[in-house]
Amino acid sequence: METPAKILCGICDSQHVTKSADFWCPECDDGLCTECKTHHSFSKASRHHDVSLKCSNNEEIEILFKSIKSLGFIANESSSPSVQIKLEKNKQAQILTDSFIPKSIDNVFAKFVRKFQIPIEKSNRNNTSGCAIFPNGKIIFADCGVNMRLVIFNTDGSLDYEIPLSRLRPFDVACVDDKTLAFTVWESSEIHLLT
Ligand SMILES: [Zn+2]
Ligand SMILES: [Zn+2]
Repeated sequence: METPAKILCGICDSQHVTKSADFWCPECDDGLCTECKTHHSFSKASRHHDVSLKCSNNEEIEILFKSIKSLGFIANESSSPSVQIKLEKNKQAQILTDSFIPKSIDNVFAKFVRKFQIPIEKSNRNNTSGCAIFPNGKIIFADCGVNMRLVIFNTDGSLDYEIPLSRLRPFDVACVDDKTLAFTVWESSEIHLLT
């Protein structure tokens, strides 16, 4: 290990010679050994420098630094994260669904389940162009007529609430999750998200 506590002669050090400094020149901001101090006093550039500051190295500090083998150790420490990320995909095979038998188009039959009465808003000319079912069973209709709104029904067919969309005419609607829906707009390339 190097001994940083030792003040070295700067001139000797620049010639790769390690020699303790006996004097200090504040103008050069460097240490000088006795031999270099002599050259320093004759050199044109430094002959007027005041080198009256004597310096000496404390040998005990040198010994102390020599006894230190390292400043410390750096090591990786890993611990289990407080947040666990689980992929829904891993559960897929265990999710029970109503129909285990794959349906074919040969045994698909239309059957009347429920009638929804979409309320009249500004005009009774409802123009229902899109429909989607939330994961929680609620049903949403897009009304792209003059009413420009989304209408949400409860699972029992009762009206839950309406979302008036001022100048946007919602054309089709899709559910992203229980709280988020996406809808396209009539004659527009935009897709809007609503939470
Ligand atoms: Zn020197
Ligand atoms: Zn000097």
